[in-house]
Amino acid sequence: MNEADTIASPVPLIDPALCNGCGLCMRVCPTGALTIVEGKAIVTHSAACEYHGYCERACPTQAITRPFEITFTPTKDV
Ligand code: SF4
Repeated sequence: MNEADTIASPVPLIDPALCNGCGLCMRVCPTGALTIVEGKAIVTHSAACEYHGYCERACPTQAITRPFEITFTPTKDV
């Protein structure tokens, strides 16, 4: 197993305090990763999420954010 096998794929973060349950994110998601449950959006199919960002752009309340992690890889001496 290499390091890439141990890193979980990221999914969008949804702030339930900002989500109004409008469902726009669910409608624009091309992979069906989101569901509205009890009036709030949640990522129910995290493996399906391809991190497109359509949900983040569609959300009228800015409830969705996509965190990114920046890593630096050492280069070989030249
Ligand atoms: S688009 Fe935003 S406000 Fe609407 S259901 Fe999705 S997360 Fe909630």
